Amino acid sequence: MTRSSRNAAPPAPSPEPALDCRLCPRLAAFREAQAQAEPAWHNAPVPSFGGTDAGLLIVGLAPGLKGANRTGRPFTGDYAGDLLYATLIEHGFAAGTYRASADDGLRLVDCMIANAVRCVPPENKPTPAEINTCRGFLAARIASLPRLRVILALGRIAHDSTLAALAQRKAAHPFAHGAVHAIRGPDGRMLNLFDSFHCSRYNTNTGRLTPAMFRAVLAAIRTDLGT
Ligand code: SF4
Repeated sequence: MTRSSRNAAPPAPSPEPALDCRLCPRLAAFREAQAQAEPAWHNAPVPSFGGTDAGLLIVGLAPGLKGANRTGRPFTGDYAGDLLYATLIEHGFAAGTYRASADDGLRLVDCMIANAVRCVPPENKPTPAEINTCRGFLAARIASLPRLRVILALGRIAHDSTLAALAQRKAAHPFAHGAVHAIRGPDGRMLNLFDSFHCSRYNTNTGRLTPAMFRAVLAAIRTDLGT
C-alpha cells in the first residue's frame, strides 16, 4: 500500500446500490430465484425514482414481488402504487398518467421515492439485519438531496429506518399516522418527518388507511412545502 492510498478518504457512500448488490445474502438468493422463474422481470435492487432537486422524499418499505420488483420502479405495478400515484398527481407531486409501468412517462415533481430496503423480501418481510444493512443507501440518498425539506415515511419500518439513518432517537419520535416530527437533517438543516400508514392493499382493505386519510397527509405536506 502506498502512502497516498493509506491516506485516501474512504469512498463516499452511494445512494444507490449496484444492481448485483449481495450485502443481504437471503435477499440476493431470493432475487436470483425470481430471475430464474421470471427472467423478464427487474429482479434487482429497485432504484429511487425522481430528481435530486426534490423537496419531498417518500420512503417506502421494500419492493413488492409483482410490483416494483417486476417493473423496476418504486410502487409501480401493484395496488399501493395505484393509491400513491393517484394521490401524488392530485397534489401536484407527479405529472402525467400513471399506467403501472416504468415507461408510462409519469414524472415526479419536487418529489423522490425510495425504499428503506431496495430488494424484494420474501412475504414482504425484511429482517432487522437486512433493514440495517440497506440503511446505508437510505442515509446516502437523504444526504444527496440538497433541497430536501420533508420526508414522508410510509409505515413504521420506513419511519424507524429514517430516524436511524439520521441518528435520531426512536423514543423521541414515535410513529403515528398523521404525526409530524421536526428532525435534524444530515447537514444540520431541520426537516419535517411526516408519518402515514403504508398505502398497501391490506391497510386499505381493512380500513386502517382510507384514501381520504392518505390524501390528508399529502395535503398537509403540500401546505408545509407551499406551492
Ligand atoms: S436490500 Fe439493500 S443492502 Fe441488501 S442486497 Fe438489496 S440493495 Fe443490497
